[in-house]
Amino acid sequence: MSHIKGIAASSGIAIAKVYRLEAPDLSYEKTKIDVPENEVKRLHEALDISKSELEKIKEHTKNSLGDEHAEIFSAHLLVLSDPELIQPIEDKIKSENVNAEAALDETANMFIDMFKNMDNEYMRERAADIQDVTKRVMAHLLGVTFPDPALINEEVVIVADDLTPSDTAQLNKQYVKGFTTDIGGRTSHSAIMARSLEIPAVVGTKEITSNAQKDEKIIVDGIDGDVIVNPTQEELDTYQQKMVDFEKQKQEWAKLKDEPTTTADGAHVELAANIGTPEDVEGVLNNGGEGVGLYRTEFLYMGKSQLPTEEEQFGAYKSVLEQMGDKPVVVRTLDIGGDKELDYLDLPKELNPFLGFRAIRLCLERDDIFRIQLRALLRASVHGNLKIMFPMIATLEEFREAKNMLDEEKVKLKEEGHNISDDIEVGIMVEIPATAMIARQFAKEVDFFSIGTNDLIQYTMAADRMNERVSYLYQPYNPAILNLVNNVIEAAHAEGKWAGMCGEMAGDSIAIPILLGLGLDEFSMSATSILPARTQLKDLSKEDMASFKETLLSMGTSDEVVAFIKEKTNQ
Ligand code: PEP
Ligand code: MG
Repeated sequence: MSHIKGIAASSGIAIAKVYRLEAPDLSYEKTKIDVPENEVKRLHEALDISKSELEKIKEHTKNSLGDEHAEIFSAHLLVLSDPELIQPIEDKIKSENVNAEAALDETANMFIDMFKNMDNEYMRERAADIQDVTKRVMAHLLGVTFPDPALINEEVVIVADDLTPSDTAQLNKQYVKGFTTDIGGRTSHSAIMARSLEIPAVVGTKEITSNAQKDEKIIVDGIDGDVIVNPTQEELDTYQQKMVDFEKQKQEWAKLKDEPTTTADGAHVELAANIGTPEDVEGVLNNGGEGVGLYRTEFLYMGKSQLPTEEEQFGAYKSVLEQMGDKPVVVRTLDIGGDKELDYLDLPKELNPFLGFRAIRLCLERDDIFRIQLRALLRASVHGNLKIMFPMIATLEEFREAKNMLDEEKVKLKEEGHNISDDIEVGIMVEIPATAMIARQFAKEVDFFSIGTNDLIQYTMAADRMNERVSYLYQPYNPAILNLVNNVIEAAHAEGKWAGMCGEMAGDSIAIPILLGLGLDEFSMSATSILPARTQLKDLSKEDMASFKETLLSMGTSDEVVAFIKEKTNQ
């Protein structure tokens, strides 16, 4: 039995056996063979198994994420049936008398290099497809397991070094009871997705992959951030009980589902949810969300082999707006970069991707991509209460340029005869300290702010949000952060605008009383945090919390802030 501590990333308890999600060892030896026919036969067997797996994954993805996401697997299947690739592998086996592994690897690499260097996006995508599928075929030739989260069909807890957002998107909630990783923090995207999927998760354990082997029993406690491998009977009983208690607690919270969010002294704030796909809206409504405060549209662009079309995006935005009725929906334009990569854009690797060519920076340069998204959003605007915001705004010029493109697309669409709503609010995310510092100037031009603390904290503290080694510096309650947040809220109110927060801090029980006192208007969080937050707010007085403002802003450390809030709010 081993006990491992990590970061509680998504609440709930999971008890199941370990499923290790790891890149298989695909190293092989190049050997001379005597009977080429046997190698050709082995090659075709590996191709056949790979094809049937891909068919299943394609089917699964189609059912869970829709046709567009399943398309990438059609492209992979085509590669596996392409004689232009398979014939040269066979020829190599026969003419050079080498084993199938070597023939596959060398031939595939030749095509990958050739396509990668072509000045044509379509061909570069094919290079990525070949790379993906040859790994699978190679695994079958070598007889090693190629992990496919989408194909899991028994109850498991996933153990991995890290999960990419697209791994997380493939998880089937019916079988994947929880997950735990070596790296990552509460605001890494796999953690955020775990919360949307309502799968218990503990991340940043540093050592779970060295401690949990395939099929061992494991407990993941996403409430307190504990993981236990090979638990005793007593521990199993304790955690079964904790699971039951958590379910009861959820039922208590659910009583407030259709209630407005009102504080003890009668003030109202809006509790909204962060979503990644139209499928998440059901969870928002089930958890009593009063709006969508952040729709992360990048998931439309991920896990695919090409950019989403205007029609496809229009369909997704319309679906979210219609499901939410007259409740507000804040859609964030494409925020790719950082830990969210798009293979098919083939962007150069950067030394500091979080400080690099991402989000609005990429969109303003690649306005061919950006304008398609703006058009889709504008067209969808008549189907609900749409607000648009731009991510990672660092300067007023960036905001003006983005807004200008939006206005230009509006004019064009109207000329084309489309109906567009006339009252779409346009705001920005405040994620960069420079923007928070001159929020006064921004407030004159934007319609609203949404404070993205996940990034604002990492940029203010110069501490990578993904790196558990510096997670001690990732301090939401540090007075430096509170002062920046206060600056933004005051600036908004001085110009008669509203200020929201869509970073994870907005759903945190220590931060909620502070933010209430600072006058935050809208709190946007993981859907599952809404009811606990509403329950907490019901017992808080906004006036009392506001009276602590100056004390909190002038404190010296995060610990002082936490101790003060815990004492004042009996936590
Ligand atoms: C943020 O930075 O706080 C935010 C909400 O955006 P993301 O987590 O997608 O970077
Ligand atoms: Mg961000």
